[in-house]
Amino acid sequence: MSINYDHFSSLGIALVVSGPSGTGKTTVCEKLLEQNKNLNFSISCTTRKPREGEVDGEDYYFISVEEFKRRVENSEFLEYAEVHDNYYGTLKTEVTDKVINGEDVLIDIDVQGMRQMRKASSGDSVLEKCTSYVFIAPPSYPELEKRLRNRGTETEDVVSRRMLNARKELKAWNEYQYLIINDEVDKAVNRLQSVITAVSIETSRLTPVADWPYV
Ligand code: ADP
Ligand code: 5GP
Repeated sequence: MSINYDHFSSLGIALVVSGPSGTGKTTVCEKLLEQNKNLNFSISCTTRKPREGEVDGEDYYFISVEEFKRRVENSEFLEYAEVHDNYYGTLKTEVTDKVINGEDVLIDIDVQGMRQMRKASSGDSVLEKCTSYVFIAPPSYPELEKRLRNRGTETEDVVSRRMLNARKELKAWNEYQYLIINDEVDKAVNRLQSVITAVSIETSRLTPVADWPYV
């Protein structure tokens, strides 16, 4: 009898991805989500206004500050943070419920969010086993600024604030398990897929279910 990965039951992967605004996280993640149909995007709640082309319930759940606070009171978030003067939060229903069902989830959050996720995961039997952390960095500061400007979605004032924040965020790169430098989109997508592939076959994640011969 030959064996394959169907001989294992496994929780899904919760892949936390951070990097300064403008690095290209959304571009890389969207491309990966297109080619990896087993991967779900964790749709965060935000009080920020939608950018042109953004769709409610796809890119974010765009909600009011009052609604956000109500959800905080209800303990609906795994983590939440104030980023660039707006609130952002990761819903438990987007992550915990899915990984328990064996589905993989991509979570795009900032460095504060990652630190909260690490706290929330430690001692949580499901999240501790499921969560991996990836930092996406731009190839240089001038390139980051160029990307932020070229995106054309922010005012000069907002670009300056995001560049200042980027300098702080980039220092956190080695708090993550993996570093991806987004020099070229396709290379970055391949690197991210490689991380998922490697994590998915970690022995600590694999629980044999039936007819497992290697005992
Ligand atoms: P983030 O989600 O990290 O804020 P985006 O995905 O919105 O960043 O990307 C910011 C801008 O940079 C966009 O205009 C995008 O097309 C561009 N971009 C993303 N990755 C690259 C890359 N590897 N090389 C050049 N431009 C890029
Ligand atoms: P943007 O406004 O450009 O979409 O996102 C700004 C920043 O907020 C990015 O660094 C992004 O990773 C972060 N972010 C998005 N969703 C969440 C979330 O649910 N929680 C936290 N902590 N940060 C988030």
